Amino acid sequence: MVDNTPNQQQLMLEITELQCQVENLQREKAELQSLLDTKAKLVESMETELKIGSEAALQQKSDLEILLDVTAKHSQIVEEELEHQVKEANQINEKRLAQFLEAVPIGVIVINHQGDLCYYNRKAQQIAGKAINISQPPRQFSRQGFASTPLTTESVDFESIDPSSNIIQEIYSQTYVIHTNQPYPLEKQPLVRALQGEYVTVNDIALQREDKQIPLEISATPIYDSPNTISYAIAVFQDISQRLQAEDERIQFIKEREAKNAALRLNSQLQQEIAERQRAESNLQKANQELKRLASLDGLTKVANRRRLDEYLAQEWRILTQEQAPLSFILCDVDYFKHYNDTYGHQVGDDCLKRIAQALRKTVRRSSDLVARYGGEEFAIVLPRTSTDGALRVANAVQEQINKLQITHAHSSVSQYVTLSIGVATLIPNQSTFPDALINLADVALYKSKQQGRNQIS
Ligand code: GH3
Ligand code: MG
Ligand code: MG
Repeated sequence: MVDNTPNQQQLMLEITELQCQVENLQREKAELQSLLDTKAKLVESMETELKIGSEAALQQKSDLEILLDVTAKHSQIVEEELEHQVKEANQINEKRLAQFLEAVPIGVIVINHQGDLCYYNRKAQQIAGKAINISQPPRQFSRQGFASTPLTTESVDFESIDPSSNIIQEIYSQTYVIHTNQPYPLEKQPLVRALQGEYVTVNDIALQREDKQIPLEISATPIYDSPNTISYAIAVFQDISQRLQAEDERIQFIKEREAKNAALRLNSQLQQEIAERQRAESNLQKANQELKRLASLDGLTKVANRRRLDEYLAQEWRILTQEQAPLSFILCDVDYFKHYNDTYGHQVGDDCLKRIAQALRKTVRRSSDLVARYGGEEFAIVLPRTSTDGALRVANAVQEQINKLQITHAHSSVSQYVTLSIGVATLIPNQSTFPDALINLADVALYKSKQQGRNQIS
């Protein structure tokens, strides 16, 4: 019989428990073992992979090295090729530039900082002629020719330039201030100023060539290698004699045109003044004539006055003395005019005289016939180159005209209208008699008409 005491039971329980634990541990151990196995496999596979990777990396490294080597060789070849191409391109450019500079119709000179001539073109030599010796330096671009140690702007010292060997001195000795014998100052020489960093253009300079001065326009420019380093100066220049001549001609032309215009203006001004004077003169003449006309007219009747009558008679007397042609003279007197005035008043009397005067003027036809107021109510008519017959015809025509007027005269003893008594005389003038003789004859005839009853011709 098993003694199932409490201790034993407990022990049994513990054993069972322990057995359980052992089983659990064994199980865990088996699990761990399996994990370890798996890990070992993983490590193994990783190692294998790493091994493969490093082998590949090594391979790649050696490939790269080869590649680098090849690339370096290639780039050297490319570099050399590029250098070659650049060199060729430069040569082509320089050649083209040289061709261009040879072709331009202006002189081009390039000097280095020491004042040595590096380049000049054909035109430069043409303009310089024998005046400036430029036979030494290169006639074409060459980098060797241009090569020299560049100078900084601060260090330019022109006193140090060898006067015998450099082109600046050569130019200086042959250039003058235009239109003078004054040498063009060294410090003002365009190339000198360009080497000092100035961009300069001058046109007051002339080159002495043989026995004449050639005016030049020179533009000079510094050529920098770096911002502060001038290596060269370039001057372009041209002969401007034709331009100056054209300018002179233009100025001369303008001056001449201005002078011509001024003369024309003066002329037209003078002509205007002359025309004005002529106008004024003609106005004056007209005024004089009018004055004369007025001075020779009778104020009331507007026929010639006594003064004009005397003048005209004297004039015609002289002419007809020469011509030995007849001169007739008619004297008219209004009949009973005193009564007329007394009857109608002085003003009506004046109007009557005016109408008679107009009638007389209407009667005479020739331009040489002259009607004049002789005085008071008496009128005269001068008829040059008119015989007695002609004069009598005029006298009759006068009476006819007056009759036609039919001016009522209530207190005339001969008619109910105003009438005239007329005396006619004719003479061939001569040097020994005067017009008074003719007037007296007409007066006598008039008196006769009055005596015989008025309103008649004698
Ligand atoms: P007879 O027939 O003899 O000529 O007589 P009559 O009256 O005409 O002559 P008389 O010599 O006696 O008078 C002339 C008059 O004429 C006098 C004068 O008043 C007038 N008379 C002269 N001049 C003018 C004038 O200008 N105007 C006017 N209204 N009358 C004038
Ligand atoms: Mg009278
Ligand atoms: Mg009378």
